[in-house]
Amino acid sequence: SFSRNRHSDIVLTSVRCRLRPLHCREPSIKCVKTHLPLSLVVFNGPEGLENTFKFDSVYDEDVSQQAVFNDVSYIVDAVIEGFNGTIITYGQTGSGKTHTLFGQIDHADLQGVVPRALSHLFRGLSTTLSGQPSKCSGPDFSIHMSVVEIYSEKIRDLLDPSRDNLSVKQDPTRGIYIDGASEVSVHDELDERQLVVFMQEGLRQRSVSATCMNSESSRSHCIVTVVVERACPDGSVKCGRLCMVDLAGSERQSKTGAAATTLAEGCQINKSLSCLANVIQALTDDKGRSHVPYRDSKLTRVLQDSLGGSARTVLIVCCSPSMSNAAETLSTLRFGSRAQ
Ligand code: ADP
Ligand code: MG
Repeated sequence: SFSRNRHSDIVLTSVRCRLRPLHCREPSIKCVKTHLPLSLVVFNGPEGLENTFKFDSVYDEDVSQQAVFNDVSYIVDAVIEGFNGTIITYGQTGSGKTHTLFGQIDHADLQGVVPRALSHLFRGLSTTLSGQPSKCSGPDFSIHMSVVEIYSEKIRDLLDPSRDNLSVKQDPTRGIYIDGASEVSVHDELDERQLVVFMQEGLRQRSVSATCMNSESSRSHCIVTVVVERACPDGSVKCGRLCMVDLAGSERQSKTGAAATTLAEGCQINKSLSCLANVIQALTDDKGRSHVPYRDSKLTRVLQDSLGGSARTVLIVCCSPSMSNAAETLSTLRFGSRAQ
């Protein structure tokens, strides 16, 4: 996996693959089959091209949002214990990234990872503090959330869109942070539900550019960061950071039929994604000596403290099962496979 603890060699990263259901207007021929007990995805492309990929888990089209979250909730637990955790969704536009990460926030069964992670965090914190469930209040912990998007290598605050073109800074105590990004902080009077409302309002601000593939497609990377600080009985403070990242579509430009402006954007987006791939490549390097090029894009710079080192990471690669998307599905499966 791409992030190993070099001292103990514990695998800190998992790569999971989720297939979405076929849409009703899609041709019903599929390019993938799964073998769930073995966590395999068998790609059967055009011209008899066959390839088998193994992941830490594979989710078929009928796997619930709850089941997907259950497999990543350990990341939230690690954040409560003071580690950094990262959950990333990768895939072509329309493959289910936003569904997996955010889902339908107002529909309990269809909520994605982010709203579930927030509830899990609150529940975990209130249990950890008293040893038994209690109300989430008091001075013993604080939670700060920010929501930003990276669009054409510019960082924009989604909680306050007037804050545009923000820069990434580094500080010995805070680590990497986005200078000037607003934070919603949670004290006694604000609860989990209000955080979700803030997040939803932020998401509405996300840059959207309709392409032929999916009218709701987004060409931006969206990053929700939740910083948890917790006072421990021995007087120490544990600080963990949870980053949840909905990446821009990984598709190559030609297939979307995008016009000139979106093409320029597309190049930038692909640049960030290829930088992410390069960072993962460097972290996967067994010798562990290679230079990790975090500074090559805004995305990787923002995630610098959240990938590698002692950070726990889950990468969820999202795929369309339809033969009409075979090329992109193969490229996504390869990306996920290289990250292991
Ligand atoms: P992306 O963010 O990758 O562009 P979306 O998450 O918007 O893709 O998904 C595209 C469409 O497919 C949406 O209508 C979404 O609700 C639906 N969809 C994606 N994954 C699933 C799934 N696992 N189950 C049901 N519907 C899904
Ligand atoms: Mg999306």
